[in-house]
Amino acid sequence: MKFEDFAEHVITIEAEPADLETVSLVSELFIRAGNESEETLSTVVRFVKGTVFPAWSSQTLDVGPALLHETIAQAAGPNIDSADVENRLADYGEIGAVAASYDLSGQRGLSAFTTSTSDPLTITRVNDTLRAVASASGDGSESRRRDLLFGLFSKASSSEARILARLTLGEMRIGVGTGTVRDAIISGFIQPPTDNDIESAKTHEDAQSAPVASQSQTDNTDVSISEDEQTERSNPDSSANSDSAAVVERALQVSNDYGMVATVARNQGRAGLADISLEVGRPIQAMLAQAADSVDAVDTWDAVAVETKFDGARVQIHTDGESVSLYSRNMENVTDPLPEIVEFISQRVTVPAILDAEVVAVSDDGNPLAFQEVLRRFRRKYDIDAMRDSVSLNVYVFDCLHVDDTDLLDMSLRQRRDKLRGLFKTTDALSPFQITTETDVIAQARTQALSNGHEGVMLKDPDSTYNPGSRGQHWLKHKPDVETLDLVVTGAEWGEGRRANVFGTFVVSARTTADEPQFEPLGKVATGLTDDQLDALTEQLRPHVRSEDGQTVMIEPAIVVEVGYEAIQRSPTYTSGFALRFPRVVGIRHDKAVSDADSLSRVRRLTTDE
Ligand code: AMP
Repeated sequence: MKFEDFAEHVITIEAEPADLETVSLVSELFIRAGNESEETLSTVVRFVKGTVFPAWSSQTLDVGPALLHETIAQAAGPNIDSADVENRLADYGEIGAVAASYDLSGQRGLSAFTTSTSDPLTITRVNDTLRAVASASGDGSESRRRDLLFGLFSKASSSEARILARLTLGEMRIGVGTGTVRDAIISGFIQPPTDNDIESAKTHEDAQSAPVASQSQTDNTDVSISEDEQTERSNPDSSANSDSAAVVERALQVSNDYGMVATVARNQGRAGLADISLEVGRPIQAMLAQAADSVDAVDTWDAVAVETKFDGARVQIHTDGESVSLYSRNMENVTDPLPEIVEFISQRVTVPAILDAEVVAVSDDGNPLAFQEVLRRFRRKYDIDAMRDSVSLNVYVFDCLHVDDTDLLDMSLRQRRDKLRGLFKTTDALSPFQITTETDVIAQARTQALSNGHEGVMLKDPDSTYNPGSRGQHWLKHKPDVETLDLVVTGAEWGEGRRANVFGTFVVSARTTADEPQFEPLGKVATGLTDDQLDALTEQLRPHVRSEDGQTVMIEPAIVVEVGYEAIQRSPTYTSGFALRFPRVVGIRHDKAVSDADSLSRVRRLTTDE
């Protein structure tokens, strides 16, 4: 498929206001791609979502705005520089429009990668080139990445440049979220369910205490997700295709790969999708928790599973029975930085398994340390042994998703916990776990957890299944203090005098949608970090600077910070409509992607003057 055709189609999708029409345009694009080849279909589906790699992959393009701006300037001609690109960005507001505003074809002859002007870009070529950009490493990789990107931009028409620029930064922003992709796959490749399908889905539902088939429609109690469903242009489900929606959603959860799901749907239909299972080495999204009171749990469930809530970082442990791989909550492969966890697990687990766990930093006397210490270990690329000596880690396994080639997602927590006990011969690796119906027992467990230096307790519905990526009401976190907010840094101000080269104030924003997040500011934060931490945060934010105006800097959403505050109030000062009173930065959440940041709906729930 020509990239030009793809780009034109995507621009039409972006301009389409109606939900149903959007689904049918996306579906039409998928059908055309599928008629060409499996590879084209899976690539087009990923591109529509703004990614080159499947969601489970830890590979990233690693192209920041600075490199992209330089490349666009280079392709735009000798009189254009990055500053010109940035000026236009301030006017147009998004990089696609900026790229489209130049005549990039003028520099075509300069590209080492173009053979002739009649050699058009194709989906395959863009995909291959972007993958080559991602794998460039070592000496000279920066200039290789620039050359490769230049090779694409210097051949791009205005529509191609618009879409290519967004794809390079992973920001497609065409109003196509998960629900739309799901519905487009259904409309393009899945036949309406037969009576048999509906009957077997019913049987499956009856067998589950928290049914998977209905979970996709009802379990997302986080208002942010329902908000997403409103803003995104998904096809409202009729009861006839809600079964198809459940099958496709489940396949997406289990494979974590939109491209693969579309291909399987096209080639093997509903039955093929139902057969997709978890795979060791292919991480899935973690099940999430929401804040609540213990009374909520006791009132809602027959019994409550109480676990310690550790203040560390989430890891998904994958083992084939011999070698062990570890993935962070963002699917980053963190095996190398955590060798003692790999050893610990490989000594204890000798069958294929996928486990959910928390890694905690501990002092020499075994007491838990702040979770920032764990993140130092996660990010470490060199001198890992030295780092291992300075920060010790413990791992607490609290769930298992797959054991001995069997997926356990549809089993209840009680059953999964039994499997976990069977898997580990000793309890030293497992998080403490008890089932109770008494609020007093929960209170005691919480006091105990807090006095042991942990964060509080997690309360889980013992009869619930494991729902990847869902912030449902089956897992509740029960922490003592005012809830902090995980917010995205979208702006900053340079400091004064001696600290004029370091950011001193940050604009922090909440997410409005999950699939294609937009961010609205809640306030400016200037306290909470030491000078060293400010230096480090400045360096981390520097590549994401979008534009500067005197002391004020606009920043690409890339870094999440945990923010404490005294209260949240309604306020006309910020476009979010809310403002934080006395905000302070509690920590930097390198383990969280911007799409994991807290939503405006959570902010609304926590607002004191409601
Ligand atoms: P939060 O990061 O505040 O949204 O809290 C949810 C996180 O708590 C999870 O993503 C885990 O990383 C962590 N956690 C700590 N202990 C547990 C536990 N026993 N069960 C589940 N998650 C836990």
